[in-house]
Amino acid sequence: METKKRIYVGMLGVSLLFLVLSIALILYLINNAQLLVNQFLLTLIASLGIIILIMLAIGIAAIVIMIIRGKPSPILTLLSRFSNEVLFPPAVFFGKALGVEREKILASFIAVNNFLVSNNNDVIQPEGILILLPHCIQNSDCPHKINVNIDNCRSCGKCKIGELKELAEQYGAHIKVATGGTLARKIIREIRPRAIVAVACERDLSSGIQDSGPVPVIGVLNCRPNGPCVNTDVSLEAVEQAINTICHR
Ligand code: SF4
Repeated sequence: METKKRIYVGMLGVSLLFLVLSIALILYLINNAQLLVNQFLLTLIASLGIIILIMLAIGIAAIVIMIIRGKPSPILTLLSRFSNEVLFPPAVFFGKALGVEREKILASFIAVNNFLVSNNNDVIQPEGILILLPHCIQNSDCPHKINVNIDNCRSCGKCKIGELKELAEQYGAHIKVATGGTLARKIIREIRPRAIVAVACERDLSSGIQDSGPVPVIGVLNCRPNGPCVNTDVSLEAVEQAINTICHR
């Protein structure tokens, strides 16, 4: 097995071993609960579990309260962050098990994220915004290398890149095209934006939002009239609205 694959498979094994040992420890403690030290350990584990569950429940309640009020609040957003990060993978897993399409769950996650980001009280000028586009928005017959420099676009009108470039110029925002997550992360490291308007499909947006750390991201879903990853499209109004949401205009 190559080293690259060995590392991941090794980590899977370590994770499984950790789970097995944890379960074995809990079973041992339960079976020997009469020993004082085990009673203490059991109480400690149960208390930790209860604290984590309470934090997760408070986070979910915070999201629900904000959605019902139709108005996010900084404290509730902070409380919701932990639940959002911890419960995302199981939410997708259980959603799929219950027959909800993965794309629908991801789109819903993006909608909740956008709602929470709209709460950001920081004053962010458009110059601090990076508009990040996927390469598949470019017309597949276009010979110009816009992922090297978007100014190579001739605004011929065969795809939305020209209009998006003009929109970014109009606001003074940065605009870049990324061919994948690695390039996107490199661009973010170089530009150091204060907020990001990201255009992509459900899968790339949700992983990008989770990857972005403290930088707020508003996700704008692309349209795929020709199927995934080729000659995709996006609503200019939706991108402009995302810019205005971040700038509180
Ligand atoms: S608008 Fe720009 S990127 Fe799109 S096809 Fe024309 S030149 Fe190429």
